[in-house]
Amino acid sequence: MVVGDTGSVRTIPLRLEFAICSRVMLSEQLRRGGVVGAGGAGFPTHVKAQARVEYVIANGAECEPLIHKDVELMQRYPGEVLEGLALMALGDFYPSGDEYELVYHATGRLIPPAGIPLQVGCVVNNVETLYQVRQAAAGIPVTRKFLTVCGAVREPMTLWAPIGMRFRELLDVAGGARVADPVLFVNGLMMGTLCTDLEEVVTKTTGGLIVLPSNHYLVTRRTRTQEEMNRIGKSACDQCSYCTELCPRYLLGYEVMPHKVMRGLGFSTTGAQHWDQWAELCCSCGICTLYACPEDLYPKEACDQAKGDRRAAGLRFVQEAPVQVHPMKEYRGVPLSQLRQRLQVEEYECPTPYAEIALQPSRVRIPWKQHAGEPAQPLVSVGQHVHVGDVLGAPAPGMLGAMVHASIDGRVQSISNREVVLASAGVDAG
Ligand code: SF4
Ligand code: SF4
Repeated sequence: MVVGDTGSVRTIPLRLEFAICSRVMLSEQLRRGGVVGAGGAGFPTHVKAQARVEYVIANGAECEPLIHKDVELMQRYPGEVLEGLALMALGDFYPSGDEYELVYHATGRLIPPAGIPLQVGCVVNNVETLYQVRQAAAGIPVTRKFLTVCGAVREPMTLWAPIGMRFRELLDVAGGARVADPVLFVNGLMMGTLCTDLEEVVTKTTGGLIVLPSNHYLVTRRTRTQEEMNRIGKSACDQCSYCTELCPRYLLGYEVMPHKVMRGLGFSTTGAQHWDQWAELCCSCGICTLYACPEDLYPKEACDQAKGDRRAAGLRFVQEAPVQVHPMKEYRGVPLSQLRQRLQVEEYECPTPYAEIALQPSRVRIPWKQHAGEPAQPLVSVGQHVHVGDVLGAPAPGMLGAMVHASIDGRVQSISNREVVLASAGVDAG
């Protein structure tokens, strides 16, 4: 039983004909459909469809404040999501990701340090990926993305956007910005990226656009340089260790200790690597920087820097102590309402209802790389006419990647190393 788009509760019949899809066939359908992880990681889903696991977990947890696109997707397309889930459960798949918390909550199992869900018999897929799995199995490739446009816009909403559509056009669809100088957080305030260029475009991993004024607290925090963050941290960190005490990875029992990484800032020429090892298993969730630290310092960014430095130096930290969940873990969760207050975005929390709008941009810019792995190689030429769903590019043989498809009917206007530009029939493509 699931809740339908009208709010009614109904039974969703799983189509039995899907049951006959073989794992190999499903994997090929997903490859042809260009399906990648829609939650943000962009891992090619056809690769996941090739291994055996015990648990298939549908990830609709969507913990980023203000973004509600997975809720809208599950309410509007429960049948398709369940069909996608059934297909992946039949086909099994190989996981890659950062879902330690979800696996623990769903199964009580702890992924080995630096391990993957497969090692405890699990795999996690975003609910939209499952929807795309179902579509690809029916021969429909990925040409549009389900996303929320919210924050300081007049009509916050969730909608399907053609891949390659400009952010500026999406803001217009949502009634326009309510502030004169909008900036965007793409895919979330905690783990997303700050974007000041409204000409950027939707990709297969765009899950939400959050509009904020350029003088917002979060924008100010995000625009500091790494040097500034380090300098402030070196002088102001009092080693209170709140960042560690609220770190979800630490509370799960992994040896992540951001306060020790911060300590390393003071030893940058005399042994920072010793302290930096405590960043190795950090998942960059941002709780330490944006919620826990009373001094508004940057432990998450210090961890990101430490992980990069250690990778470049070929160092790898292996936790030797057994992973044991912290006895206070269940009392140290971060409620979303409190998080929104801390982030100073409570005023922007509101429903983002699904809007049934058939968007038809006159021009789209479709990147060759929207996924983990190698960029797709062009299979079309300038001037060629294409229709929605036609293949534009594919990864080189033997390389990890995903196919790229046309999201509008039109003509190939230009091709570069980064993207292909399509112009609709009514536009002068010269
Ligand atoms: S919470 Fe802030 S001040 Fe306290 S140890 Fe962590 S970084 Fe330093
Ligand atoms: S970002 Fe901070 S809170 Fe999150 S896992 Fe890393 S160290 Fe822990």
